[in-house]
Amino acid sequence: MELHKYTKEVLEKFLVANKGLPEYQEAATNILTSLDKYIAEHPEFEEKSLLERFLMPERFIQFKVLWTDDSGKIQVNNGYRVQYNSAIGPYKGGLRFHPSVNESIIKFLGLEQTLKNSLTTLNMGGGKGGSDFDPKGKSDNEIMRFCQSFMTELYKYIGPNKDVPAGDIGVGGREIGYFFGQYKRITGDFSGVLTGKGLSFGGSLARKEATGYGLCYYASEALSTILHTDFKGKKVVISGSGNVAIYAAEKATALGATVIALSDSNGYIVDNNGIDLEVVKQIKEVERGRLSSYVERAGKGSYHAGTYGKEGIWSIPCGIALPCATQNEIGLDDAKALVAHGVKAVFEGANMPSSSEAIEYFIDHEVVFGPAKAANAGGVAVSGLEMAQNSERLSWSFEEVDEKLHAIMKEIFANGYKHTLKYGKNVYDLKTGSDIAGFEKVAEAMLAQGI
Ligand code: NDP
Repeated sequence: MELHKYTKEVLEKFLVANKGLPEYQEAATNILTSLDKYIAEHPEFEEKSLLERFLMPERFIQFKVLWTDDSGKIQVNNGYRVQYNSAIGPYKGGLRFHPSVNESIIKFLGLEQTLKNSLTTLNMGGGKGGSDFDPKGKSDNEIMRFCQSFMTELYKYIGPNKDVPAGDIGVGGREIGYFFGQYKRITGDFSGVLTGKGLSFGGSLARKEATGYGLCYYASEALSTILHTDFKGKKVVISGSGNVAIYAAEKATALGATVIALSDSNGYIVDNNGIDLEVVKQIKEVERGRLSSYVERAGKGSYHAGTYGKEGIWSIPCGIALPCATQNEIGLDDAKALVAHGVKAVFEGANMPSSSEAIEYFIDHEVVFGPAKAANAGGVAVSGLEMAQNSERLSWSFEEVDEKLHAIMKEIFANGYKHTLKYGKNVYDLKTGSDIAGFEKVAEAMLAQGI
């Protein structure tokens, strides 16, 4: 597709300036491609250099994290925080602990987060952070020492009205608790500086469930509006078995679907009568174990080593696919296999799980495509609700938070779909509509605030 002159110029310069950062380049290319028609309608963006300003993070912080392992050896890791855009609110976005974390991953996530947070209808800017620290196999004490050391540097840059981190891959309630304790120790301040906190110190009910539940609320809206159907009786394949995947599986099941597969980074389980989620929760949430023990524990189903590729999780026939593990899990071949086996809709629980070619393929083959920044925005939306509760010094009931989450996800769909109808390739192209809907608000705020 030939891009508008201004979009093309900005993208070309961006790609040169960010050579060697592939995920970041991919995310920016995807977003600018979606925004192109909209940009062409707004000559003031070029006059005010808005796209260049939007793409450049406000701040990128990299720091050293030193900690001691249980044998007494000193270990060194990289820590990162990108404060991407604060036009519509304080920076907000998760922290990821995974060996693959680097500048490219953090910047791509920060850019995506900026549009995602805008879509939530709440006032939150975009940020993201993390470390190449691998929490797998570490003792509880090692995790605590690492989190304390990480926060000893990060605390300088965050605050309840400045930057409010949360969890992501490898960072859940336990880690947020250690971060919070260290922030309080250093600053003497008990504040809502993090979200995803424990319920006894300012956390919100339904935060744990929010991304997965929100994904299914969004999916339900899309299924009923575009395909005039719902989850009932559908076979659903979900990758991952972490926070997002487990609660997506729980809600999809509650809405009448049969979740037939889940994965972790070693392999996947298939259970055609429906995965026993209580067993999965026990393995992953309580024991932090591997899915390979599922078959023996549940007394049913099958386990397959390896995750993606020819005989990977996306080769299983299903009506709805929910990628909920990590970036780049669905390539063109996976998309072809899913379509050949009759998939009707794909909703992204993870961030950027599908490649650009896979997305194109879905949209061209009339598969409803719900992009991450819209479909998985439920987590950050409830983080925003946690911030609201902290400001009020009140706690809302599970039902109240869940109801607000549901309303927000409906609104995210409606707003994106409105733009899909105007700018999208076809009605299945929720990617274009969502990117424009998210950008619209950020652009307006940036223009209003001057340089
Ligand atoms: P978790 O750490 O709880 O779970 C991640 C899951 O994905 C685990 O099952 C993990 O397997 C698997 N996984 C991770 N990396 C890989 C890989 N390289 N290959 C195969 N499998 C992998 O993370 P979350 O559930 O919180 O996050 C999942 C995705 O959702 C991420 O993309 C995240 O950015 C996104 N997201 C999360 C939100 C949240 O609220 N938590 C909000 C919005 C988006 P294993 O168990 O073996 O490690």
